[in-house]
Amino acid sequence: MGTRARLAADLLRVAQALNPLGINQGKSGNASVRTADGFLVTPSGVPYEELTPDMLVEVTAAGYRGPLRPSSEWRMHRDIYAAYPAAGGVVHVHSAHATALACLRQPIPPFHYMVAVAGGHTVEVADYATFGTQALSDAMLAALGPRRACLLANHGQIAWGATVAKALDLAVEVESLARQYSLARALGDPVLLTPAQMDEALARFAAYGKPAAERTAEDDAVLEFPPALG
Ligand code: 13P
Ligand code: ZN
Repeated sequence: MGTRARLAADLLRVAQALNPLGINQGKSGNASVRTADGFLVTPSGVPYEELTPDMLVEVTAAGYRGPLRPSSEWRMHRDIYAAYPAAGGVVHVHSAHATALACLRQPIPPFHYMVAVAGGHTVEVADYATFGTQALSDAMLAALGPRRACLLANHGQIAWGATVAKALDLAVEVESLARQYSLARALGDPVLLTPAQMDEALARFAAYGKPAAERTAEDDAVLEFPPALG
């Protein structure tokens, strides 16, 4: 399988997982992968279950080709790849709990250490702008800052990762955090973690979850594992 075919297969797998995972519904949302010349993105307004690899649209600096239009949110995808060299994939969804908080214009605060999985102490909310506009993408970049996910006011959420599969994992996590936070808020006033506690969680996340080949003694020390015997 060539590189483009592999990227298309990865993207299709993620796009078709969004609705069954319960983090999106209908034709809402979109996903992309970085390519050598730009990015491959889901087409605008096509039901995910009808998608085939050849229906994914490549957008380059020159434009796009083919009968299908790229996602109306192509600017958010383009601007993430331009701003974050480590981004290899992007997932945008209208997941219920993240969207509910976004409608209240409330960020996810450090109520749980897992908030650090998005790369900071909070998950911020981008100011409202009409879908598919440059204004929305600009607001998204401002809300992302050094983090890998943000909420989009009165709209949904967006997440990026080294791969599109990792972007999906993060979008699932953001939705789960939004659900947990909503539940905690419904029961009372969640106790927030301090900046120092969140920094500790961030330091551990930098070492956590690496594939075996990338495991280092320093990471094991940060994570306080027992001595590695082989
Ligand atoms: P597209 O079908 O154009 O990707 O739009 C879906 C969406 O979520 C717009 O914000
Ligand atoms: Zn959307």
